Amino acid sequence: MKPLDVDQATLARRDEIVAALRKIVPGEGVVDAKISRRAYESDALTAYRALPMVVVLPESVAQVRAVLAYCHENNVKVVARGAGTSLSGGALPLEDGVLLSMMKFNKIKEIDFENRIVVTEPGVTNLAITRAVEAQGFYYAPDPSSQIACSIGGNVAENSGGVHCLKYGLTTNNVLGVEIVLMTGEVIRLGGRHLDQDGYDLLGLVTGSEGMLGVVTEVTVRILRAPETARALMIAFDSSESAGACVADVIAAGIIPGGMEMMDRLAIEAAEDFVHVGYPRDAEALLIVELDGPSVEVDHLVGRVEAIALKRGATQCRISNSDAERLAFWAGRKAAFPAVGRLSPDYFCMDGTIPRKELPRVLAGMRQLSEKHGLRVANVFHAGDGNLHPLILYDANKPGELALAEEFGADILRLCVEVGGVLTGEHGVGIEKRDLMPEMFSDIDLSHQIRVKCAFDAKHLLNPGKVFPVLHRCAELGRMHVHGGRLAFPEIPRF
Ligand SMILES: Cc1cc2nc3c(=O)[nH]c(=O)nc-3n(C[C@H](O)[C@H](O)[C@H](O)COP(=O)(O)OP(=O)(O)OC[C@H]3O[C@@H](n4cnc5c(N)ncnc54)[C@H](O)[C@@H]3O)c2cc1C
Repeated sequence: MKPLDVDQATLARRDEIVAALRKIVPGEGVVDAKISRRAYESDALTAYRALPMVVVLPESVAQVRAVLAYCHENNVKVVARGAGTSLSGGALPLEDGVLLSMMKFNKIKEIDFENRIVVTEPGVTNLAITRAVEAQGFYYAPDPSSQIACSIGGNVAENSGGVHCLKYGLTTNNVLGVEIVLMTGEVIRLGGRHLDQDGYDLLGLVTGSEGMLGVVTEVTVRILRAPETARALMIAFDSSESAGACVADVIAAGIIPGGMEMMDRLAIEAAEDFVHVGYPRDAEALLIVELDGPSVEVDHLVGRVEAIALKRGATQCRISNSDAERLAFWAGRKAAFPAVGRLSPDYFCMDGTIPRKELPRVLAGMRQLSEKHGLRVANVFHAGDGNLHPLILYDANKPGELALAEEFGADILRLCVEVGGVLTGEHGVGIEKRDLMPEMFSDIDLSHQIRVKCAFDAKHLLNPGKVFPVLHRCAELGRMHVHGGRLAFPEIPRF
């Protein structure tokens, strides 16, 4: 990744900026000491680091408004941060910018069981929402594997997914409304307490906008009744291709599992070494398929999935007969990332999405790429919705390996796009996939996306340098011209 340019003129004003911010957020809400700022220098994409100019932890919407208005007026960049678990570098700070941590917004404001909604502050963790309603038989469906730590504000910004999103949708399908503060300090409310609203779907636009349009200060989500029962199948195959074909067959048969996850041999072995739950070490691929709903329906569907798997040559098929057994099947999958982390000093988690039917082709292609680049790759992914998470193993201490891993990752994502897929399924573009955006979008596509950014943040002060390979000044978008058959922008500096 090309390092982000640092504006020395802003850095020269650092003391003055810190003093002004202290007036807005008094006490310990402004973190100025270098050693304390170090804690914020990266998110979960630890390959990239930058020391934020200053960290601010506001406690009220009024403070967020005042901080943003000050920064807008004084041309200071801002990066919002939740729990810092982004895997695409979305919360990577700027050396010449304010890092705005939203983790003091940690209260659930309202639980309305009658209307099945929860209104919450953005720093509340994803899992805390389910914990707050589960005694009454409800839950919040999107369940990123990081749910114990990641914030609902971060989930909105990244449009996060998880195991259950195949059946219950991503964050965008479960968020009803948000309050956001714009870079100017103005507050707007999008959506509300119901599924649909009049006017443009700006809520849909903000969900997944990677902290670039506004700072989320309140989120309204819908909660669902917990299913009557859930059972899981653990199905082993002697090839990833057969497992991939089984996934496509299950969906083609009209069955939508609550979750359908796949792991390849390297991931299976790592997970089994980590959690010891009886994963078959000799399998080349393992599927965990969960069916949920009324018991009669679940028992019927379990039988159908088993029959499809056996027809596709499954070498082993275990079916859970208790909740403890079901959770044991999931334990390895849920712990797969830390488990793979024990195989190598570093790994890159990619996040491409492909049409399900292309799984066998892409998995075969990935094996070839692994040989070409000389790096191992473990595969753990949301097979049901074609969302791949190849984990590229490398050692950042070996000269050149980070660059090699980046190139390998880019080749995987190019392959995803080639088969009709997309660069990201749920982790966002951030800094990680930013320079690959032209592989997927034309100049015209990108310029229109940038226009949306301009409508919300005309000075490009909120999370600049992320998502768009070149960030164009809004005024210059009107001066694009056609050059050699392609739309060209006037020469302007990169951020
Ligand atoms: C082990 C592990 C497993 C994971 N598994 C999954 C998974 O299964 N599915 C999945 O989708 N993701 C997964 N992730 C990625 C990550 O957890 C999600 O992207 C999550 O939504 C990030 O939330 P956060 O609070 O940590 O946000 P951060 O990392 O702090 O920020 C992420 C982005 O959101 C923006 N942002 C944060 N808060 C706000 C706010 N209040 N207003 C505006 N913008 C804001 C930031 O500017 C940044 O662009 C995983 C990560 C890890 C480390």
